[in-house]
Parts: sequence; C-alpha cells; structure tokens
Amino acid sequence: MSSAGQALKLGMIPADGIGREVLPCAARVLQSTPGAPKFEFVHLDAGFEYFQKHGTALPDATIQSLKNDCDGAMFGSVSSPSHKVEGYSSPIVRLRKELDLYANIRPVIGVHGTKDDDKWVDLVIVRENTECLYIKKEQLDQKGSGNGPVATAIRQISQHASSRIGKKAFEVALARQQMRVKAGIAAQETGKAKVTVCHKSNVLSVTDGLFRTSVRSVFEDDQKSKGGPGRFEGISMDEQLVDSMVYRLFREPHVFDVVVAPNLYGDIISDGAAALVGSLGVVSSVNAGDNFFMGEPVHGSAPDIAGQNKANPIASIRSAALLLEYMGYTDPALKIYAAVDQVIREGKYLTPDLHGKATTTECQDAILKALTN
Ligand code: ATP
Ligand code: MG
Repeated sequence: MSSAGQALKLGMIPADGIGREVLPCAARVLQSTPGAPKFEFVHLDAGFEYFQKHGTALPDATIQSLKNDCDGAMFGSVSSPSHKVEGYSSPIVRLRKELDLYANIRPVIGVHGTKDDDKWVDLVIVRENTECLYIKKEQLDQKGSGNGPVATAIRQISQHASSRIGKKAFEVALARQQMRVKAGIAAQETGKAKVTVCHKSNVLSVTDGLFRTSVRSVFEDDQKSKGGPGRFEGISMDEQLVDSMVYRLFREPHVFDVVVAPNLYGDIISDGAAALVGSLGVVSSVNAGDNFFMGEPVHGSAPDIAGQNKANPIASIRSAALLLEYMGYTDPALKIYAAVDQVIREGKYLTPDLHGKATTTECQDAILKALTN
C-alpha cells in the first residue's frame, strides 16, 4: 500500500485473451493523463490459461498482493470454458468475494450523437454482486412428487446486502451529479440525478419486497435526517418492475440515470443495456467495495479476435478512468472520458467493432493524443 506522496500501486491482472492487449493500453493512458497521480503497476497472474499451466486460476500471491500491497486494481478479461472443467472456478467471481467487492457498477454511454441530444444514453447500472440466485444453492429431487425430477434454487436477499447496495447507488447518483456540474452540465438541465429501484415485488413479495424496502429506506431515512438537508439532496428515487424496466430500457434508455438491481436482474439488464450502445468493446465497469475498487471491461476474452491487434481498447480505458473516479481522482478521470469521447466523435481511429479500420494500438494512440492536446 502506498503512503502519502508515493506512487499509487495498482494491481494489473490481464488474465486471458484480449485482456492482455487492452490492459496495457489502459496502463499507458493512466500514465499519460495530465493531473493523474504517479502509478506503480504490479503485474499479477490469474485466468484460465494460468489454470491450464499451474492448476489454479487465482494464485494466493495475487490475492495477498491485492489485499496487502495494492491501492486498487485493473482486471483484463477471463475465458469462460463452455463446459465444466474439473478444478476450475472463475477467478473474477472469487476475487470479488475475497475483496468484498459487493457492487458491480456499469456505466452505459452512447457512442453516436452528442450530449446535447435529449435521447443521449448515459446511465449506470449498480448490480448487487454477492447474493440472489448466485449463492448457487441448487437441489435436484430425482423423484419429485411422482412426476419426475424437480430442481429448486434458493434465492437469498438480505437487508444488509440490499441496504449497502442501495447506499452505493445513491452515492453513485450523487457523484454523477457532482461530475456533471464539474463538466459544466447542470443536473437540472439533464433532468436526471435519479435512482431507479428495479425489482419484481408484485410477484416475489418476500425477497424482492425486502430488496425494495431496504433500498427505499436508505433514501427515506436520509430525507428524514435531522439538522439540515440529507446527503442525497437533489436526487430523486423511483422504481420499475424488471419486465417493464427491460421494455423501457430498449424504448427510452435516455430517461434513466442510476438503476439499482439485485444480482440476477442486474446481470441481465446490464448485458442488454450494453447492446444499446453498439459494442461490448466500449462498456466499462468497476467492482466496488467500501475501500477497494477494481476496474474491469464488461467484455470477455474474445478468443475470436485475440492476438490480432483488433480489440477495442475503449472499454478498458474507460474502466481505468472509472477506477480513478472511484479512488477520488475525478479531474484526470474527466480528462480520459473527454479524450475517449473526442476519438469516438471524430470516428477516424475506431476499431472494427465500431465499423472502423483502426488497430488496437492506433485507437489507443489517438486517445493518448487527444489527452495531451
Ligand atoms: P468469453 O468466454 O471470454 O466471454 P466470448 O466468446 O463470450 O468469450 P466476449 O468477449 O464475451 O467473447 O465477446 C463477444 C463478442 O464481442 C465477440 O465476437 C468479440 O469479438 C466481441 N468483442 C468483445 N470485446 C470486444 C472488444 N474489446 N473489441 C472488439 N470486439 C469485442
Ligand atoms: Mg462472453
């Protein structure tokens, strides 16, 4: 861990496939951003390819270094084998657990049009990362009640996890509002600064009911806070059933600001939302706990294009900016977002997923140039 005045230590985990090509781009951008702190990058191993050579997908040394030496981290991408491989489990799922990174925060930002456009997509999905159906408590009763096998899965929703993800969502909305002000876009102008609670409590009244009331209470308790305005003043809250959420997300994505959802709904709507903006290659995320953050592009290892200098580095570069933003360095983060926006707008150095002809390196270089001009 670095102390005051020293370089920030970032654990870099390229892992598999295009992760190895795009993570170095993110590191170069971080190093070249005016006003960013100095960085010391610590290379760390993980991934399916590492598992095939060494029998583990996440060596203890990686976990220990992240816990004891690093101020933050960046993850590349991991291959997910389509069949069950004995002894293999996903390193990213384990890392989130080990570091208690309970929130997956995924901004979805338009690639076409401009920010003045009132249909501009700029929303963030805050997905709960630790429970719901992902606790993987499944059972198979071979006999059932006489009509053949019956499978059951337990879905766990706790007040603790729901409240803390709710709090995180309101903090994200607050930070976005502050960033808009800093970038010269008043929140009132955009009519945004809002948290939408996504659930299905009309059917799952016990589990989703608890999620809904826990998140709502975070906001309501804040509004009731005595002695002046609450922390989340200026932010509003509404809610949306997950099915109509999907419908609205596809019809009018521009109306959303921050959407908070339990694990499964969050997983589904965030992949769907990525489709709204044209390519997985531009969608970033940060895994957030209370004191530790790990940037991670949303895409996988893309074996179809790995090793060809074709991958879009923007998702990783934006994830690095998100990491900076969550670590409190908003000015350099804004510079990176602006440089990426400029390169997308100019359209000259885009990779094939965005219908351009540029290589990974050329796209990275254009962003570096935009940053320093
Ligand atoms: P994995 O099992 O690692 O998730 P995958 O085959 O599902 O691998 P993804 O990485 O999820 O691959 O990508 C899905 C599709 O999107 C692929 O065709 C891939 O080439 C494309 N893609 C993903 N990321 C990028 C990127 N950064 N730049 C360009 N294309 C990308
Ligand atoms: Mg995939």
